[in-house]
Amino acid sequence: MPYGLIINAAVSLIMGAALVYVWRRDRTQTFTRYIGFANLAHLLVPLTYAVLDRHAEPVHTVGWIVLATVAGLYTTLLILGTAHLANRVVSKQVSVAIFLGVVAINALALQWGGIHLGQLAVATINTMVGVLCAYWLWKPGATRSSSEKWVGPLLVALGLIQYIYVFFLDPGADIQSTLGTLLRMALGLVLLNAALERSAMDASKLRHRFERLAARSLQGIMISIGDRNIVYANPACLAIYGVSSLAELTVSRVAKTIPEAERHHVSAIIAQVQSGEISDAKYEAERHRADGTTLWLRVHYFQTEWDGDAAVQVLITDDTHHHQANQALIQQALRDELTGLPNRTALLNSLRERCLPRETTASFVLILMNLDRFKLFNEAHGPSMGDQVLQAVGTALRRIMAADCEVMRLAGDEFALVSAGKGDAAVAMVSAVKDLLSQPHMVAGQEIFLDASLGIALYPNSARDAESLLRAANAAMHVAKRTPGTSYRLAEKEFERGSSNAFEQEQALRAAIDSAEIYLVYQPKVDARTGRLTSFEALARWSRPDFGEVSPVDFIAAAERTGLINALGKSLLRRACQQIAAWHAEYPVGVPVAVNVSPLQLLDPRFPNVVAQILQDCGVEPQWLTLEITESSAVQNLAQTIAQVEQLRQMGVQVAMDDFGTGFSSLNMLRSLHLHAVKIDRGLIDPLPSPDAIAVVRAICQLAEALHLHVVAEGVETPAQAEAARLAGCGELQGFLYAKPLHPEHAAQWMVSMADTHDATL
Ligand code: C2E
Ligand code: CA
Ligand code: CA
Repeated sequence: MPYGLIINAAVSLIMGAALVYVWRRDRTQTFTRYIGFANLAHLLVPLTYAVLDRHAEPVHTVGWIVLATVAGLYTTLLILGTAHLANRVVSKQVSVAIFLGVVAINALALQWGGIHLGQLAVATINTMVGVLCAYWLWKPGATRSSSEKWVGPLLVALGLIQYIYVFFLDPGADIQSTLGTLLRMALGLVLLNAALERSAMDASKLRHRFERLAARSLQGIMISIGDRNIVYANPACLAIYGVSSLAELTVSRVAKTIPEAERHHVSAIIAQVQSGEISDAKYEAERHRADGTTLWLRVHYFQTEWDGDAAVQVLITDDTHHHQANQALIQQALRDELTGLPNRTALLNSLRERCLPRETTASFVLILMNLDRFKLFNEAHGPSMGDQVLQAVGTALRRIMAADCEVMRLAGDEFALVSAGKGDAAVAMVSAVKDLLSQPHMVAGQEIFLDASLGIALYPNSARDAESLLRAANAAMHVAKRTPGTSYRLAEKEFERGSSNAFEQEQALRAAIDSAEIYLVYQPKVDARTGRLTSFEALARWSRPDFGEVSPVDFIAAAERTGLINALGKSLLRRACQQIAAWHAEYPVGVPVAVNVSPLQLLDPRFPNVVAQILQDCGVEPQWLTLEITESSAVQNLAQTIAQVEQLRQMGVQVAMDDFGTGFSSLNMLRSLHLHAVKIDRGLIDPLPSPDAIAVVRAICQLAEALHLHVVAEGVETPAQAEAARLAGCGELQGFLYAKPLHPEHAAQWMVSMADTHDATL
């Protein structure tokens, strides 16, 4: 086979294969497929020539048929290819017609005129195809790449050189073959270039479309090649990161918004998405811009392609406002509005969190703190003053407690302190609170003294879950309330159950008020010198079925909380008066009976009328009744107390000041109240006979004497205390040394036997 033909065939093969390969990579470039296959079909032309040259009939005839068919195929594929290149559609029927037409013309030409006429036909057809193609591709209007315009002329040239053989026969064959090879190479290269240009054009068209869409997107869109190079960012994305151009949006800038601990993880996700190991990934997190702005971003990564490279598309939603609004709502739900401290819900969350089972149990302290008599304070000074006091207490607690101690306000006058540690931590916290409360608080230009009762629960000793701890601390706090002044109590195991049902207790109390479950016991007071019974103090008891004895400290407080105190107080007063009347009817000698009055009862302007009505109903003379009011209630609402006491005194009822020495009553106050006695608080009698305590008690007695007041020492438990109290100037003594509170029948015996005991010495 001649060398020229081999080269010719090789060029057809290479160009054909290259074009088909391009089509396989980018199937939108259909023209490369047709022209590629046209080239491969053309491969058969030089081969067939080589066969024709050497063989006689019948191979010769078969060769002619093959040649005619190949020429038909080549021409048809060329037309289809250039039509695609020119964006024209050639229907199947037309394609078949072209193919059959070209085969027929070639076959006839070869049959009649041999290779000479056949070549003429092929040259003419190919030139015409070239002209048609040039017409299509040069037609104005269509935007074409520069290389495409060369396709038509090259095809014309390829057609024209085939006339060389027609005119010069065999001597021109070599030139024709060489020129054909060169032109075919040139055509192949032009087509490959056109394909590349078209691909690039298509890609940029797509990219423009993408960018147009992305530019209007409210979501941030960023394309990055791995975590090395950000190749695209839409305006929303630039805005999120606070920059104005892509150039400013460097990888390191984006990385800096990610907390250091997370960076490695984020890089790994990006790498996995880009490599296709995972199809996409999402996360939501807080980010910080260099200018300090905090962002809350939702980020979604997808795999994508960018200029033929694997890339990662990142969709970024700036959820900052939404997140902040949510956080604010959560904060609000966890915060007490008045003091700005965390509230009860926050406390429960914190306790639950701290009680979670962990490998190492971290012990902690819960202290519940309830201000004493705050309700009273509120009623006396008005709620706005009360609010200011609560704010002052909240601020002060926050100030004195360590930074890692949680300070919360639960409700009303109740605060909570939570801090890591054990008993020693609790001791430190309690003493800090005690120090705080030993000082007056300045509120609205007034000095306010406050007392509080503290209940302490320790985790895990007192209880192991949040609710039980709270119950335990609450129960302990209620026990602490029984001790006047600021006092505390550590929760014991049984407290956990203790006040679990405060609500239930309040309900039960409502039903018990007028029932026999509640009754009075009577504790004697005796003359300090003679030991003779001088009077009784009525003390309330509640024997709750299936529950046992409930301390009056608890149920009186519950009644005050729930507003039942007026009904309960009235009921107790009536019972006491009925008892006085019963004793009077039975025994010739009677003694006065003191009834305790809740400060809340005293605040009710109708109270004196209520007393008068009950006395009248029971037929009791007013001088047999004494009312014990507490010092604190008088201090907090002096004007009203003065008026009420005055009214009661005018009715003939005696009024004594209870728990004297625990509050901060002034001399002035004692003077302005028309009292008959003061009862020195147990807290001051207990340390007797220590010289300091004697000095205090003596001072009170001297003061009382000057004001013509009787002095009663309460809580006398030992003869030494009794002696000291008497020497200090107390006229009457009361306490377990003489008698515990007694049931009426025992009290009556006391009355009968002791009333006649003259000159009893102590
Ligand atoms: P209070 O008015 O100071 O009553 C004296 C309390 O001291 C009584 O406790 C009494 O049992 C107790 N006590 C008496 N002598 C001694 C003693 O020598 N040593 C010790 N350690 N304690 C002694 P109780 O009965 O538990 O009452 C506690 C508080 O409950 C009373 O304190 C009073 O504030 C209130 N309360 C009791 N009954 C009534 C009532 O009918 N009405 C009102 N409003 N409050 C009441
Ligand atoms: Ca009393
Ligand atoms: Ca008392």
